[in-house]
Amino acid sequence: MSNHAPKKWEVVLGLEVHAELLTQTKLFSASPNHFDSPPNTNIEPVSLGLPGTLPTVNRRAVELAIRVGLALNCQVKPSTFARKNYFYPDMPKNYQISQYEDPINSDGHLELPSGQRIGIVRAHLEEDTGKSTHLGGGGRIHEADRSLIDYNRAGVPLIEIVSAPDLRSSEEAKEYVSELRDILVAIGASDGKMEEGSLRVDANISVRPAGDERLGVRCEVKNVNSLRSLGRAIDYEAQRQVDLLEAGERVIQETRHWDEDDNSTHSLRTKEGETDYRYFLEPDLVPLVPDAEWVEEIRAALPALPAERRARLLEASGGGEPGEPDPELLAGIAIIVSRSQDELAQKTIQGGSPSALVFKHILNNLADGTGQLTAESFTELLAAEAAGEISASASKAVLAELVSSGGSAQEAIQAKLGDTTGQDELATLLDELIAQKPDEWQRFCEGEQKLQGFFVGQIMKATQGQADGLAVAKLLAERKG
Ligand code: MN
Repeated sequence: MSNHAPKKWEVVLGLEVHAELLTQTKLFSASPNHFDSPPNTNIEPVSLGLPGTLPTVNRRAVELAIRVGLALNCQVKPSTFARKNYFYPDMPKNYQISQYEDPINSDGHLELPSGQRIGIVRAHLEEDTGKSTHLGGGGRIHEADRSLIDYNRAGVPLIEIVSAPDLRSSEEAKEYVSELRDILVAIGASDGKMEEGSLRVDANISVRPAGDERLGVRCEVKNVNSLRSLGRAIDYEAQRQVDLLEAGERVIQETRHWDEDDNSTHSLRTKEGETDYRYFLEPDLVPLVPDAEWVEEIRAALPALPAERRARLLEASGGGEPGEPDPELLAGIAIIVSRSQDELAQKTIQGGSPSALVFKHILNNLADGTGQLTAESFTELLAAEAAGEISASASKAVLAELVSSGGSAQEAIQAKLGDTTGQDELATLLDELIAQKPDEWQRFCEGEQKLQGFFVGQIMKATQGQADGLAVAKLLAERKG
């Protein structure tokens, strides 16, 4: 928004995040809650909404919902289930069991890493729908030849987290979703995978003249599948609304679809009012009244949240004092915590490795996960690198080996340094180089030490940086005699 819109407009954003809860089974039945099973295998009469079936609440889903509420500073209260009625082929009952008047969690907040507080209006339990796949016509329902329906997802427990309209830019919205995702993952409530649809974001977007207290007419944008798309969808939609208002037109309240292919939003349907859903209390379920003692047990068992883990890692890195921490260091720490690699970093730093070296390797070389790597072998490897026993490039190669195959760092280092093919190749390259640059070689042999950099550089160039710098230096020294 900041890039496109004139300054006199303010964007107002509220987000609805649906997260699938990490349970073994569905919210109201014993079917597995599992992502990539063959279609229509995780189903039974309740998931299919067959007449005469009755829902039974999954205790674990309730526990995870309470965890979410507590982690978001909500009040956890007795709640009721309601039927939200609408027709869609992937919802076989023609209603979704959700929570309406009395959500399990309400009135909380989430603090962004910048310190800004975003209100959480509610975080309620509901069931997911099935999944439709439209064949032909580019995957859109209105042009499809036929549609397939997979009910595996029908009845999977969801927590719907509704923020207050406290966000003011696409950057803040991304920061919010990213922090929320990290919290959900940290407390084991969700796997947070946007790419698998287990975390889905709908954005309520409106604009108003800066300084105005009244909210503008909002549009809800759906189908946002990544943080990047979220930012782009918000920027696009806010600009669309500003353009309308500046042209003297009105924004119509509606639901819009974010189209990844043409980077714009399209009208999907004029927004249903709440009355369109004809909510009423679910007659097959009694109110949910979690025992106060149980809630306190859940609170006591909550693990450290990302904000606390970032602070700990900052302290371990020695960046906690005095004065303002380096923004680059903070950004690195945020990534490490977001990837849940902070425990590895802590252990390695405690094992004596310099934090800068630990962070550099984690950020650059462990983006795809730690695989078979253990904290012990990581510590051992970095100790060898810090002591100059192994070069940075060789250390990186050994790390990749430890990630894919595991094992001890010392063995992997020996294997790497004793890599004779590499040595033979280097020797051949050096022969060629000496033949091409006989004068430089003679001056080097006669003691012109600064030419070492020249020869190392030439070999690095010839191997596209793959050669081990220390091994090259060693070879030069041997050959010089
Ligand atoms: Mn919902």
